[in-house]
Amino acid sequence: MDEFDREHWAPETLAVRLGQERSQYGEHSEAMFLTSSFVFKDAAQAAARFSGAEPGNVYARFTNPTVTSLQQRLAALEGAEDCIATASGMAAIMATVMALMNAGQHIVASRSIFGATQQMFTNLLPRFGIETTFVDGSNLSGFASALRPNTRIVFVESPSNPLTELVDIAALAEITRAQGVLLVVDNCFCTPALQLPLTLGADLVIHSATKYLDGQGRVLGGAVCGPKVLTDEIFKFLRTAGPTLSPFNAWIILKGLETLYIRMQAQSANALLLAQWLERQPSVIRVYYPGLPTHPQFDLAKRQQTSGGAIVSFEVRGGRDAAWRVVDHCKLLSITANLGDTKTTITHPASTTHGRITAEARAQSGITEGLLRIAVGLEAQVDLQRDLLRGLTS
Ligand SMILES: *Cc1c(COP(=O)(O)O)cnc(C)c1O
Repeated sequence: MDEFDREHWAPETLAVRLGQERSQYGEHSEAMFLTSSFVFKDAAQAAARFSGAEPGNVYARFTNPTVTSLQQRLAALEGAEDCIATASGMAAIMATVMALMNAGQHIVASRSIFGATQQMFTNLLPRFGIETTFVDGSNLSGFASALRPNTRIVFVESPSNPLTELVDIAALAEITRAQGVLLVVDNCFCTPALQLPLTLGADLVIHSATKYLDGQGRVLGGAVCGPKVLTDEIFKFLRTAGPTLSPFNAWIILKGLETLYIRMQAQSANALLLAQWLERQPSVIRVYYPGLPTHPQFDLAKRQQTSGGAIVSFEVRGGRDAAWRVVDHCKLLSITANLGDTKTTITHPASTTHGRITAEARAQSGITEGLLRIAVGLEAQVDLQRDLLRGLTS
C-alpha cells in the first residue's frame, strides 16, 4: 500500500492500483476473500485480535480484506483519511446519523435530496428524537437561518436529482465550520472523479456505490469517507448493528473503481453533447445540465466540478403525454429509475421517483409533468439522439 500513497500518484493511478491485499499466491488481479470469519494461530492470538491489541481480521461484520481494499482505494480517491464501506448508500446515511447523533439533535438538509433519504429524515428519524429542517439548497442564507443550537449535521447533495441544482459546498462549509456543525455531502452524482467535497471543506462524504462506483448496475453498496475521529464511530456502529458490505459486492465495486475516471470522463462528454443537442430541439422547452452556459449555476459548476456530470434533465412541450411519448418511443434507452450505469436510462420523475410526493410539492420543486431525466451511459451519441428523436418529433 505504501507504494501507492496518495501524495505521489495521480488519482487515475490510485483507482487502478491502491489497496490490493495480495494473498500468498501472488495473484495479479484483486483476490476476493469470501469468508465470514478468520482463524488464529493460537489462543493468545485469538484473545489479542478480539481485544484489539493485535490488528487483524476477526469476523466479516467487522472487517474483511476485500472490503478493506475497497475502503483504502476509495479513501485515497476522496482525499479522505479513512473510509467505511456499507451494505448500501442508505446504510451509509443511516450509519452516519446513528453513529454521530443523539435524540434531541437536529439536521438541516437541502430540499432536493434522494427520495429515500428524504423519507428517512421525515418519517423514520423523528421516532428516535431527531428532527430535520429542509431548505432550498441554492440559497446559502437559508441554511444559516435554519441552524439551531442542537443542529449536528447539515446534509446536502450536489448536483441534485433531477434538476441538477448545485450547492456551493465551499461557502456552506464556512458556515457550518463557524457553527461547529458537520457538513455531510452525498457525492453520488459526481464521484471523486468530478468533485472532491472534503477538499472543498465538507466533513464527510457519502456514497451510494450502487451507482457510478460500481458503474455497471450490478450490486448495492455504500461508503462514508472522512477523518478517522468520525469514521471510527461509524465503524463501531456498523460492527455492532451489522449493515456491513459483503466481500463479493466490495470486489465488484473495487474493480468498478478501476474504470471510474475514464467512465466519468466519457459519460460526461456524452452527456454534454446530448444536452447541447436537446437544447436545439424545438419540442424541448428547457434543459437542465450544469455543463451548459445556460445553467443558472454554470460558474459554480466550473469551480466546483471538473465537468457537468452524466445526468441531463429536460422539459418537453406538452406535459405528461409528450414526456411519456418520448419514453415509449425509446428502443435503446432503458426505462428505469436507476442511474450510474454504462447503459443510458430514462425516467419520468413526476410519475415514478417523485410520484408519491404531492402535486403541490412537485410543482414547488420544479418537477413538472413534462420533465424527463436521462442518466447518460457509454452508447454512441448518434444512437442516443436517434432514439430520442422519434419520440420528440412524433
Ligand atoms: C441511490 C442513491 C442513494 C441510496 O443508495 P442505495 O445504494 O440505493 O441505498 C443515496 N443518494 C443518492 C444521491 C442516490 O442516487
